[in-house]
Amino acid sequence: MSRGAFFESVSHYFDRAARLSSIKPGMLDQVKSCNSVYRMRFPVKQDDGSILVVEAFRAEHSHHRLPTKGGIRFSKHVHINETIALAALMTYKCAIVGVPFGGAKGGVCIDPRTASEGFRERVTRRYTAELIRKNFIGPDIDVPAPDYGTGEREMGWIADTYKNLKMNEGNPYACVTGKPVSMQGIPGRKQATGLGVFQGIRCCLDRAEDMKPLGLSTGTQGKRVIVQGLGNVGYHAAFYLQTQGGALITGIAERDGGIFNPDGLDVDEVYRHQQATGSILNFPGAENVADSRALLERECDILVPAALENQITAENAPRIRAKIIAEAANGPVDFQAEAILLERGVLMIPDLYLNAGGVTVSYFEWLKNKAGVSFDRMVSRHEELVKREMIDELESLTGKTMDAERRKRLIKGPREEELVVAALEETMIRSYDQVHDFWKQRGLPDLRTAAFLHAIERVAESYTHHGIFP
Ligand code: NAD
Repeated sequence: MSRGAFFESVSHYFDRAARLSSIKPGMLDQVKSCNSVYRMRFPVKQDDGSILVVEAFRAEHSHHRLPTKGGIRFSKHVHINETIALAALMTYKCAIVGVPFGGAKGGVCIDPRTASEGFRERVTRRYTAELIRKNFIGPDIDVPAPDYGTGEREMGWIADTYKNLKMNEGNPYACVTGKPVSMQGIPGRKQATGLGVFQGIRCCLDRAEDMKPLGLSTGTQGKRVIVQGLGNVGYHAAFYLQTQGGALITGIAERDGGIFNPDGLDVDEVYRHQQATGSILNFPGAENVADSRALLERECDILVPAALENQITAENAPRIRAKIIAEAANGPVDFQAEAILLERGVLMIPDLYLNAGGVTVSYFEWLKNKAGVSFDRMVSRHEELVKREMIDELESLTGKTMDAERRKRLIKGPREEELVVAALEETMIRSYDQVHDFWKQRGLPDLRTAAFLHAIERVAESYTHHGIFP
């Protein structure tokens, strides 16, 4: 697989949408260009005492809004063009869900599977120090988050390093999101991307007019789903599709193979099996599929690639039998595969909308850190008082007394996680409606083109308002 293929795909999707806009070429160049890239190499001591020179990047794609925002990826396949393409997607993603950030992305070229915890910590802290040195991180400059191969633990190390090197800065914890809750993270961030994927799929399947040509009924209930990648995004997407959406998770593809059961797999049980045995294979009652990628070709209603880019290419696209491809990962379908799938009437929910739940909740976390107060603290007690008054009034009007347990449940003010989940859902629904309306009202060929064009117009508008372009 060419390392430039993903970059080429994002560029192709941008150009295709840009051709349909009336924005002037200079402005389009600005919206497309990556504003700055920092490429670094630094030495890190390995566990055996030897030195490894680590290559890493941070790309800030667009400064039209500050701070810039985007995850940090740990993978031995990290490449400068991949980092730039992911940063560009972040710009468009933020524009679609109305999060006031420019796009960015980080990449560190290490293998997260073989790196010890100590080595990961040394790499993460050194990478953070490098970013500080070149002004590529800060609450109002550039705010990283988790991505493939990283999670809460790495974000905690980043926050701690930043705080210690920038003692005098107000709200240093706002320099990164996706932190543990105990380090001023926000409850709900860990599951946000996967939950948003589920909410986005539900929005799509609620449209009878779009389901009819696919021969599908509306709603996720009973739909057969195959998921690729049981990591943060894949696990949570599958979990919510099954538990809240009533879908049947018939297949899960992982790096070392896949499992299949036409009657459905219990996602939590599979996860526990993976934790216990180190693999999803040999899950009781499921068929082992040695060729993990071949599992993507099995018949299903919805295919959810949630691992990496370029998983569906011109080579395997003709054999994909899913009716809907829900892009939980960034760039899982390359542009040549997309042409084949569109031709066959497959509906694709594009990454730049579907996996934007992570950055949406990261925005809430950043706001909380900047404000220095949690969201529930400001509303919970007030809501309880208002509800108590209403129930007292109802009781005096009806002369009936409410059961004590029920009263307690109804009166309870919202917890922070409930506020986050509700705000995320509102964002995913509103953004889907906007992109969908754009698609239909402008007569655009597909959802991805609509999402790109919508994002391009929003970013261009923002540049115009900044007075950069008359
Ligand atoms: P992760 O590291 O938590 O999980 C990735 C999973 O994919 C792992 O379980 C890994 O074993 C599996 N995998 C790797 N190669 C595979 C292959 N060839 N076949 C099957 N499985 C394979 O990463 P994540 O955070 O879940 O990210 C997954 C995707 O979602 C990436 O494209 C990432 O950019 C995107 N994304 C993540 C977030 C986030 O908040 N974490 C937000 C938006 C987008």
